[in-house]
Amino acid sequence: MNRRLQPFLRPIFSPALTLCFLVMGGVLTAVAFAGEDDVKAPEKMSVLLIDGQNNHKWEETTPLIKQTLEGCGLFTVDVATSPAKGQDMSSFNPNFSDYKLVVSNYNGEDWSEPTQKAFDTFVSSGGGFVSVHAADNSFPGWDAYNRMIGLGGWGGRDQTNGPYVRWKDDIKAFTRDMSNGSGGAHGKRTAFLIVVRDDSHPITNGLPKSWMQAEDELYGKLRGPAENMHVLATAYSEPSSGGSGEHEPILMAIQYGDGRVFHTTLGHDVAAMQGTAFQVTLQRGAQWAATGTVTLPPTSGELLSSTKPVTRDPATLVATAASIDMESAPNLESAGWVELFDGKNLQGWTQKNGTATYCVEEGAIVGKTSQGSPNSFLCSDKSYDDFELAFEVMDDPGLNSGVQIRSVSKPDFQNGRVHGPQVEIETAPGEAGYIYSEGTGRGWISPKQPIQDAYQNDKWNQYLVRASGDRIQVWINGRKIEDLRDAESSREGFIGLQVHGIEKGQGPFQVRWKNIKVREL
Ligand code: ZN
Repeated sequence: MNRRLQPFLRPIFSPALTLCFLVMGGVLTAVAFAGEDDVKAPEKMSVLLIDGQNNHKWEETTPLIKQTLEGCGLFTVDVATSPAKGQDMSSFNPNFSDYKLVVSNYNGEDWSEPTQKAFDTFVSSGGGFVSVHAADNSFPGWDAYNRMIGLGGWGGRDQTNGPYVRWKDDIKAFTRDMSNGSGGAHGKRTAFLIVVRDDSHPITNGLPKSWMQAEDELYGKLRGPAENMHVLATAYSEPSSGGSGEHEPILMAIQYGDGRVFHTTLGHDVAAMQGTAFQVTLQRGAQWAATGTVTLPPTSGELLSSTKPVTRDPATLVATAASIDMESAPNLESAGWVELFDGKNLQGWTQKNGTATYCVEEGAIVGKTSQGSPNSFLCSDKSYDDFELAFEVMDDPGLNSGVQIRSVSKPDFQNGRVHGPQVEIETAPGEAGYIYSEGTGRGWISPKQPIQDAYQNDKWNQYLVRASGDRIQVWINGRKIEDLRDAESSREGFIGLQVHGIEKGQGPFQVRWKNIKVREL
């Protein structure tokens, strides 16, 4: 930690001991014990994903939609595949009411009348629906469906289906254009910028104001009833790429009876679905359509960048979510733990920033303070993204310390200042186990730091840390101290052992670490 305004620790020296005992200079405000703030895994919602006919490669894209939804940890997805084109569609009658949400990757022949009726009833009575890309090409003659999706394209759609809806930058408002013309068009595939037009909606609240989508089709000239429809984000369709020259609706939220519909025009193919713009908005839109709220964490400008498209393989999201029991502490008996310190030398570690000293004594790394030095860090040469980390630590009473995770040091940031999330080490009574944003000016990442009694002074303390996706968890001596989601911090970087800076006339103090192990996830 590095609290600039903290009244500095006042040492009281005990001549009989080489250790220095400190009392806190009145900084400990009484904080009631707040119990364990465990983040409970939400019960997963059942989703039905429909495919089977599409002028797009639905066999390739359905798995990515499933992975993207399941990868956020909120959903389990079943797939219902319709008969192939030209086959008997009467056999296609999914039981929609078994699900909280239906997602369509379907663009094909009309469903049977009973199936259409059942779907209409499902949505109008409160079911959630998500229309992905060419699903809005479907069913041009099915009135209820067109009212669900708000706007659609192709299939003979024209002015009889409803207006074109466009954002006009000069008047900062949407217009509805009833002029004659066909519905549905796109220019050649490019990466493009998506701009939020309403950041108060649960789907867009917590997202950056604009971000790039990976190469995709930018749908334009869509037409439809556009009733109870809220356009959340638009993109400018470049005439130079064959586009409409208009700010076209990209993400829409529609109320249909008691049901909610999220309509995304993104996701032409595998490359488009690798875009985080597709993934993040699909996850949030699906949760909103299913529940009316979005509890997924805010998304950083790193994941949704306005300057370059960001991509990731949705398969990795699922693999991470499936392989770890996030409710249990990391298990030291599991396979895959690797020693980061052999108990003998500091090979694989490099000191950064301050002038504290690090040496090896009796199988432990011993960090010693240096008067007047800023914070020092002994940093792993290797970077880690998702991992479990175990170490034992014993520090002099009152000395503040910590272990950096996913941290970085770059010449162009404050001359290489180490920054990133820090797992706090502090003797009792203190804030051990909470997460602090070292070197960024952001302060605590942990929203609150009630004093716990898990850390034991003058003993080895077992820390277990898990960083997976945006979630960071910490246990001390078997007790869960922190479990939070943090979308802002870097997701990859070194592990760093902090020796806190001290002022002149203080110290020296020591902090010791041993049995430092990492298990990559
Ligand atoms: Zn397409």
